[in-house]
Amino acid sequence: MDKTRDKIKELREIIDTYDNIVFFGGAGVSVPSGIPDFRSADGIYSKAYKTILNPEIIISHSFFMRNPEEFYEFYKDKMIYKDAQPNAAHYALAELERRGKLNAVITQNIDGLHQKAGSKRVLELHGTIHYNYCMKCGKSYDLDYIVKSKGVPKCECGGIVRPDVVLYEEGLDSHTVEMSRAYVSAADVLIVGGTSLKVYPAAGYVREFVGKKLVLINKSRTDMDSAADLVINDDIAKVLGEAVNG
Ligand code: ZN
Repeated sequence: MDKTRDKIKELREIIDTYDNIVFFGGAGVSVPSGIPDFRSADGIYSKAYKTILNPEIIISHSFFMRNPEEFYEFYKDKMIYKDAQPNAAHYALAELERRGKLNAVITQNIDGLHQKAGSKRVLELHGTIHYNYCMKCGKSYDLDYIVKSKGVPKCECGGIVRPDVVLYEEGLDSHTVEMSRAYVSAADVLIVGGTSLKVYPAAGYVREFVGKKLVLINKSRTDMDSAADLVINDDIAKVLGEAVNG
């Protein structure tokens, strides 16, 4: 018997049994859509620091404030995938919401693919590339404006336009954090996917879960596997696609 197939069947039974499901997803959810985890991206050569810098430094608040040109060079190249399309995992979650099974998607991704697949209640812990605003006057700009800009995108007032993406050294939006926490603590089923649960605050959410079934779907093992009711080490698009529509 195929072990993964049995586990997907078990997941399908959990989905059929419970109506109050919450999904928490990481970078792995968007990998099948061709968006790599930016942490695995190569750094860029910094003219200011005369060295190769890694992504965690480039995508930090202080680096952005000091070197917006180099920030945007990396950001546009490695963090924006304008033509990426939702995969079977995104569509399965949108379908579960339509069926009244899924209450919320909490994501660490900034690509907006859950909304593109049709999900309505999406909590974006790290913000989104689709909303951008002038740091001087607050005027908002869409993704197209950023993509088409040369170098650092500027507002008509002359201010720098920044993405509504949470950079390193910046705090998460407290309203989004509180909403996420409320959904997790009220859920009967928490499905966690595409994250190794090493990045804050993912592991914290899993620990706060007090519902009936904790399901972990990730290509490799995670630190929380022993706490889960069901662990599926496989591709999330395949697993969710088959569990919901298979
Ligand atoms: Zn402005």
